[in-house]
Amino acid sequence: MKTRFAPSPTGRLHVGNIRTALHNFLLAKKAGGQFLLRLDDTDAERSTPEYADAIRLDLDRLGLEPHAMFRQSDRFARYEEVFDQLKRDGRVYACYETPEELELRRKVLLGRGLPPIYERPEGENDPVDGVAPHWRFRLDHDAVIEWEDGVRGPQHFEPAKISDPVIRRADGSWLYMLPSVIDDADHAITHVVRGEDHVTNSAIQLQMFDALGAGRPSLAHTALIVSDTGKLSKREGAKGLEALDEMGFEVMALLSVLTRIGTSQPVEAVHDLEALAAGFDLSSFGRAPARFSWDEVGVVNARLLHETPYETLADRLPEGVTPERWEVLRGNVERLGDVTSWLSVFEGVIEAPERDEGDRAYLAEAAEVAEGLAWDEGAWGALTGELKARTGRKGKALFLPLRLALTGQRSGPEMAALLPLIDKEHALARLRG
Ligand code: GLU
Repeated sequence: MKTRFAPSPTGRLHVGNIRTALHNFLLAKKAGGQFLLRLDDTDAERSTPEYADAIRLDLDRLGLEPHAMFRQSDRFARYEEVFDQLKRDGRVYACYETPEELELRRKVLLGRGLPPIYERPEGENDPVDGVAPHWRFRLDHDAVIEWEDGVRGPQHFEPAKISDPVIRRADGSWLYMLPSVIDDADHAITHVVRGEDHVTNSAIQLQMFDALGAGRPSLAHTALIVSDTGKLSKREGAKGLEALDEMGFEVMALLSVLTRIGTSQPVEAVHDLEALAAGFDLSSFGRAPARFSWDEVGVVNARLLHETPYETLADRLPEGVTPERWEVLRGNVERLGDVTSWLSVFEGVIEAPERDEGDRAYLAEAAEVAEGLAWDEGAWGALTGELKARTGRKGKALFLPLRLALTGQRSGPEMAALLPLIDKEHALARLRG
């Protein structure tokens, strides 16, 4: 099994192409195969080395490390060779129409209620003086195109209903279609998973594989990714790891969500790529759009953190978060950055809300009781037991003023676990107010 991810280095990875990279990575990983990175940088104007680097760094951070990588701009000589061969075979032909002519023809066809398919000439086109041609691939109209799509099931295309695609511009530059096939063939890619916006490309490309005498890869086209409310907005979709960092979420939260949306499997908080790969199953993908939301990433993020032991995070936790403190806090953080705000609760200055007269006296009494207590896991039980007996308070009236005074928060970790971790002198001072 050999898969590949083929982004154009014309921007950073966004949620949609991270998902495609992930699918191909997981498929290869599960099968013990290889996952390649191919940079589709034939468009010299829009591709930059900076974006190429950014893509590699992003994949690294995501843990989607390719076994090998290459760029299309290094392979022009090879494309030329195949191009010449296809020309000799009559599968590539020169075209001299101007964009205006093509547009006019399109309009005429549409006006007649006909599909705007490029009208291929009989035989070769006549050269036009002084005009450099662009080049099209001649589809074989007699060879119906069929494949069993890994997600969409049986696919069927009539080549006569598809325009012969332009594969090369008049200036010699390459369009996406043919180089991709040459690369997939030369690298013996066995499986291609990509978005359903490529289905028609795939139909054309299968004829290119055949024309090259290369084996066809298995194809799977996943339904597009949308937001809860419809199209994925720029803010939601255009940013991948930038958005993740802005929101302070974990990589695995994003990957957990992206693996399962659009499938019949539930979204779960999964801690590592091995586990994601083990459960990855193309046959669980449906044809309905995959709904993505950063809110769901947030929910999964919290779940992941709640389950993550100290050792796993040790090098990323801020100074002052000891194993004991993480144990107490982890059930209450939605993002890792939240622990910082809890640090002051252990030994710093907190802002506690105003207390009324009644609570003031109650908390003074609490300080008195607390002072005499052994500061261990029994402290909270002993404190509240004694206060209950002394004051007759119970429930919220008993607990909430203590929590507010000691932590400054209305909710948070279990007080029984938290209290012994708060420096005793600080705790007494907070109760005294
Ligand atoms: N560069 C193409 C894209 O990003 C690659 C498509 C593919 O063959 O997977 O759409």
